[in-house]
Amino acid sequence: MVPLDFSEARAKVIDVVRLARGVPPVEEVALDAAAGRVLAVDVAADRDSPALDRSARDGYAVRAADLPGDLEVIGEVRAGQRFAGAVGPGQAVEIMTGAPVPEGADAVVMVEDTHPGNGRVRIDRGAQPAQAINPRGSEGAAGEIVLRAGTRLDYTGIAALAAFGHSRVPVYRRPTVAIIATGDEIVEVEETPADFQIRDSNAHSLAAQVARAGGAPVILPVARDTVEHTRQIVSRGFEADLLLISGGVSAGKYDVVEEVLAGFGAEFYFHRVLVQPGQPLVFGRARAKFFFGLPGNPSSTMVTFEVFARAALELLGGQTETALAMPWARLTHEFRHRPGLTRFLPALLSADGAQVTPVAWHGSGDIPALTRANAFLVAGSDHPVYATGEWIRVLLK
Ligand code: AMP
Ligand code: MG
Repeated sequence: MVPLDFSEARAKVIDVVRLARGVPPVEEVALDAAAGRVLAVDVAADRDSPALDRSARDGYAVRAADLPGDLEVIGEVRAGQRFAGAVGPGQAVEIMTGAPVPEGADAVVMVEDTHPGNGRVRIDRGAQPAQAINPRGSEGAAGEIVLRAGTRLDYTGIAALAAFGHSRVPVYRRPTVAIIATGDEIVEVEETPADFQIRDSNAHSLAAQVARAGGAPVILPVARDTVEHTRQIVSRGFEADLLLISGGVSAGKYDVVEEVLAGFGAEFYFHRVLVQPGQPLVFGRARAKFFFGLPGNPSSTMVTFEVFARAALELLGGQTETALAMPWARLTHEFRHRPGLTRFLPALLSADGAQVTPVAWHGSGDIPALTRANAFLVAGSDHPVYATGEWIRVLLK
């Protein structure tokens, strides 16, 4: 199998998961518990939005044809009220942002452009009909779909649900994600490792990433580097909707994960991707469940989850789309790397988000260095030298 590059591998994940996935079960949650969940139904506007012509400014409601002119102020209207009368020729009503535009008026002039005094207002400039007015129904007509099923609800989605009267929200159940760390050297966090052992950090960093991506993590016991024990733990993993295995996918003598997965009749979509960290990345399907074998170095596990497995998880969770934000920033230092692999390296994005600086580290096991970064810079496989000030892509942490 020819190794795929970064974009090909990501496209592969998205394509096969889209084709194979079903519709997740639905549950109902309270509005204020719905952020981060995936909406399970289309939501329509329950009335015109705005429900009437509404002022977008503090100022004066006028008849555009009267301007420029000196107008009689016949009253005021504020948000939460309706003006009882109507604006006739030569008249204006003082109006606040969000208040209904009185009958007879067809424009609002913002207060900064007016000269009020003695019950009158002078306006020296002309006005266009409809200016500074949000017309009834302009944001959404009654019955119009304003949010689609499959939308991951962020704070804007929560605002829409609130605005259209939904205090309870049907959402897709979170996919369960089994997480298995592998390795004879791995001990649980509570244990005191001998100097030749290390504590399991991957299961926990993955659980945090899974939860952030909308999944429900289930950490299984560490699988030892034998076919028998790994098979036993992996078979439990297939009870979940998605299976993540860390470590044991390199070419070493004790890397048994692929052999074990093959023993479950797995179909493999790829075994290797041209990224670093994370080259020996395995993606496949067995027992109707997708799995990822993520290389065990902590940064490999983190990066490959973020750029490949998260897409699978989001789609399995019912999201219509999955996006990977990789904005551009300017390098503060020259940066070189060997071409051929897309590289993800810890970096610090400046407070204004415009500049990025690589963070010194001692390789993909250097967890303390990863904590000092707030991003990864993403060096293109065909771009070996970046000059100071050159644009480079960044993956937010
Ligand atoms: P592997 O992919 O199994 O060859 O592991 C690569 C490196 O990652 C080794 O140095 C492991 O000790 C380390 N590693 C593997 N699994 C974990 C884990 N669960 N937590 C922290 N480090 C790990
Ligand atoms: Mg290992």
